[in-house]
Amino acid sequence: FRTIHRSFVEQTELRPDKALFELPDGRSVTYRETADLVRRIAARLVADGVTPGDRVAMQVDKSVEAIALYLATLRIGGVFLPLNTAYTGAEIDYFIGDAEPRVLVCPPQRRADHAHREGPDLVVETLGTAGDGSLLEGETHHDDVYEAAAGDPAAILYTSGTTGRSKGAILTHENLASNCEALLGSWRFTSDDRLIHALPIFHVHGLFVAANMVLASGASMFYLPKFDADAIAELLPRATVLMGVPTFYTRLLKHEKVTPQTCASMRLFVSGSAPLLASDHEAFEARTGHAILERYGMTETGMNTTNPYEGGPRKPGTVGKALPGTEIRVVDDETGKPLPDGEVGSVEVRGPNVFAGYWRMPEKTAAEFREDGFFITGDLGLIDEDGYLCISGRGKDLIISGGYNVYPKEIETLLDAHPTVLESAVIGVPHPDFGETAVAVVVAAPGQEPNERDLIDSITTDLARFKHPRAVRVVEALPRNVMGKVQKAELRKTYADLFT
Ligand code: ATP
Ligand code: MG
Repeated sequence: FRTIHRSFVEQTELRPDKALFELPDGRSVTYRETADLVRRIAARLVADGVTPGDRVAMQVDKSVEAIALYLATLRIGGVFLPLNTAYTGAEIDYFIGDAEPRVLVCPPQRRADHAHREGPDLVVETLGTAGDGSLLEGETHHDDVYEAAAGDPAAILYTSGTTGRSKGAILTHENLASNCEALLGSWRFTSDDRLIHALPIFHVHGLFVAANMVLASGASMFYLPKFDADAIAELLPRATVLMGVPTFYTRLLKHEKVTPQTCASMRLFVSGSAPLLASDHEAFEARTGHAILERYGMTETGMNTTNPYEGGPRKPGTVGKALPGTEIRVVDDETGKPLPDGEVGSVEVRGPNVFAGYWRMPEKTAAEFREDGFFITGDLGLIDEDGYLCISGRGKDLIISGGYNVYPKEIETLLDAHPTVLESAVIGVPHPDFGETAVAVVVAAPGQEPNERDLIDSITTDLARFKHPRAVRVVEALPRNVMGKVQKAELRKTYADLFT
């Protein structure tokens, strides 16, 4: 069985002097140098008492060493637990209390904040972005490799917390390796690729899609600390692939250096983690000649579906078909029975990519799986006439107005198509007569002033009366997290008292 760490070791043997990381300051770090860091950090972790199954938590800024820490943890059979760098105080207390890591790695300047956590069960190490910190102090190398079984846990990744409190998803070595292999094949990713990596590494997209694919294939990455449109535009002429969240593309479209000429060496633009606006998909293709490839995944499952690399159209507003080895179905949420194509229902997935369960939440885990092993994603969707999956939003965002189901996506698609609207989010808020009613929150298209009456008039001919938004609010921008996900819970709070 070949784990991600094993693939990385093999690639290092094949091309030790190849640059794995290319950094903004012009420095590069080879496969051999990275492997050396991995063995040093592994020695330090072992000295800290990490044994197979122990969690190694990290909350540090993006760095080469942070990726080496990930690989070192896998090497010794530990369970890697990266945390969003935005989490503070009480949030961190929850994650550390829940996951009980053996080691917590934080930036040097944050060490004092964690001093009270230290004790016989927890070692605090530091890691800076300049190759500094206690984690790198040791000079010994750990040469042994833990023989991980397919089902051994490799990581615990907390979900983004879009619909409620974050849950820790336990991912096995097989989950990571099988999903990586499916993506490498589907996207024709090879050692010749040069990926622009501008995503955070505490999330499935940046770590288990982007970084794993590079590490396992012997490719290289332009490794940016965060999204930076200027830096990406400069790198495009030397790169082959970009993986981004939808907001990357919204912003790149505003950059004059993103042209067919600067994209001449590029072969693939990938989008995921949140829905890509169909208008951005079309504008990007018109601008660069590249159809963005949208795919669909989640913390619990890695990637599930993808639009085709070749052999079919990349359809805006869809997320394509199941990856090899993964099954997707749309069922009636209540009965669990498969629905005919074209009908919206619960999106469910089964395959070697599906996680082992939520960390210390056996009831929650049991509740999210069907008896035949399908995982209930919590997303709603339909299969279109070409067999492509279309995500209609989250089950939790479904609005029930006067007893009828209202799918926000249906209204959002109509609003987004209106010339005065750039983008929109439709939410349900409490209403004395209907229980709940739809409210549309819209962002103006450049130079436009959306008018509530006009908008409602323009969309109501296409919608049954019970679906009509009872109010429209124009805002500067929709609230989003770093992964570009619209925070509907926040909007629901803001507009909770509109009708009560
Ligand atoms: P939580 O589970 O804590 O509420 P979350 O679901 O946002 O948070 P993630 O695992 O980061 O946490 O995100 C997975 C979700 O992102 C999917 O369930 C889906 O709703 C959304 N998503 C990912 N890719 C796409 C896409 N291409 N189109 C639409 N939605 C997407
Ligand atoms: Mg989720």
